[in-house]
Amino acid sequence: MRVCDLCGEREAVYTDYSKGISLCSDCLMSSVRRRAWRVLEEELLPGDRIVVAHSGGKDSSLALLLTKEFADSHPEANLRIVSVTIDEGTFYRKASVELARRLAHELGVTHRTYGMEEIHGLSIEELDFALPDNWKRSPCTYCGVLRRQALNAVARELGATVVVTGHNLDDLVQTAVMNLSRGDVSALIKTLRHERRDDTGLVPRVRPLRMVYEREVATLVVARRIHAHLGKCPFTQGMRIGIRREIDDLEDEAPGTKLRALEMLSMLSKDLRSQVNLRRCRVCGEPTTTDVCKACQFKRELSEFLGRDLLGPLNLERVKKDREIVWTRS
Ligand SMILES: [Zn+2]
Ligand SMILES: [Zn+2]
Repeated sequence: MRVCDLCGEREAVYTDYSKGISLCSDCLMSSVRRRAWRVLEEELLPGDRIVVAHSGGKDSSLALLLTKEFADSHPEANLRIVSVTIDEGTFYRKASVELARRLAHELGVTHRTYGMEEIHGLSIEELDFALPDNWKRSPCTYCGVLRRQALNAVARELGATVVVTGHNLDDLVQTAVMNLSRGDVSALIKTLRHERRDDTGLVPRVRPLRMVYEREVATLVVARRIHAHLGKCPFTQGMRIGIRREIDDLEDEAPGTKLRALEMLSMLSKDLRSQVNLRRCRVCGEPTTTDVCKACQFKRELSEFLGRDLLGPLNLERVKKDREIVWTRS
């Protein structure tokens, strides 16, 4: 048995190659908590109503747990939390929705599930069945855009002041490199910066795990038996997979590369003036940087293919009814 280099007592479950030390689950948890709470301290405001985007996967489950611990240990801040799952309607999601519900219940956090089918009028499973193999986009591409828009609309209609997401260091470096390679500066800034603006219908994002490695998250979720779904989404494909491999290779050769890359990109993005010019989509009314939002562009081509009209405002009736209920207990 390899013993933890920090406490010298418990069995090590994780090796930090950049520092050359091995940690037990307790010491790893303390280290991750310290980094996550630093982000929450910097970016949350007293009285915040927090929607945690809780898919039931490992990252969002740990993010919910750490955010709840933070709120409980800062009662003077009067933070309230609701856990929200957007159900894309895939067989893959069914198990994780149940795990999300279980973890939220265990933590005493109100949990709500809203279906993609209910909000957008189509599910990713339907797309997966309907689209031919040689279709120009994968279900994953549609899912990412439609899920992100649904989540923001739900959070806004629930009256949330921030959305907490489970994005870890690996996710953010991959996304930043993808945006860099596309030359998409405004997407790069959005990924790296936290901005409070309430005039646009876009609920600001807080990412407590942004300085935490994916490997640390996975180790903690397994070692501490946190209710979370560990599988990868079977629809993931495209550019991200290649970029992930390249960045992982760099990290193997020079441990700490991901952290340094994110720090450098964050510093650069502070110097860039925000070029994110938000307005309302002409078709659905959701916030966008273009005349017609990406979700509506996608829904337009899918409407043609599926032979039914998917365009128009999102269906948020049930969300609006939930607005007053969800915050009372949290
Ligand atoms: Zn230890
Ligand atoms: Zn739109």
